[in-house]
Amino acid sequence: MAEAGNVAWDMGSYEWLLQGKDFDSIHPSLQRQAILNMNYGLYEVIPGIYQVRGYDLANISFIKGDTGWIVFDPLTAKETAAAALKFINEQLGERPVVAVVYSHSHADHFGGVRGVVDEADVRSGKVKVIAPVGFMDHAVAENIYAGNAMNRRMFFQYGVLLPRSPFGHVDQAIGKNTAAGNLGLIPPNVIIKDDIQEMTVDGVRMVFQNTPGTEAPAEMNTWFPDKKAFWAAENITGTIHNIYTLRGALVPWCPGA
Ligand SMILES: [Zn+2]
Repeated sequence: MAEAGNVAWDMGSYEWLLQGKDFDSIHPSLQRQAILNMNYGLYEVIPGIYQVRGYDLANISFIKGDTGWIVFDPLTAKETAAAALKFINEQLGERPVVAVVYSHSHADHFGGVRGVVDEADVRSGKVKVIAPVGFMDHAVAENIYAGNAMNRRMFFQYGVLLPRSPFGHVDQAIGKNTAAGNLGLIPPNVIIKDDIQEMTVDGVRMVFQNTPGTEAPAEMNTWFPDKKAFWAAENITGTIHNIYTLRGALVPWCPGA
């Protein structure tokens, strides 16, 4: 549930996709993707790197540090981000969030930050919030100045306000849908300014690579040398989501946010 009293997220409303039927009214590729997006829950990517998938449009990733979690991309809504954190803590043991990384300036990758950290802890420096250069300018320009127009077009483009059925809203392909909860933003207290910049947080070595003007105007990749793991933000995805959209957003732009 969202704080406002509405349903923020409901995977059950898509159960009809799992009847093993081919729906003539849905493009076969969209149906395939929509069924894949029904695989939700907690995933271990490699030991120490986990994702909670299917709690919002994007995935939320958790890196196990010496003492707590480093959260990568805390979803769109406070409510779904808090639910994902609660779920991983129940499954893998309670750990505090010691840092948050915003990979880029699209709202489905930062909007739920208030569900995983307290702003006072960020202001005091107890929790690091790390973002690529230009993040605040672009997050504000795209989601606040242009926000209303962009949202209306997004509702139209994806039919997200239609009933969930083979004749209405099916999926957004890159993820199921955008959660209908509280979207917020806590300004980062660490900005990655260099092209390549290394940082160790809670014992986890990370090498950030700024990639401005790619999938988003402000974006960065992360390499974990000790884990031989690479986080490509949304610069690499399993869907072709960087096709020009109809909403007048800066391109490229992920379709959900
Ligand atoms: Zn994006």
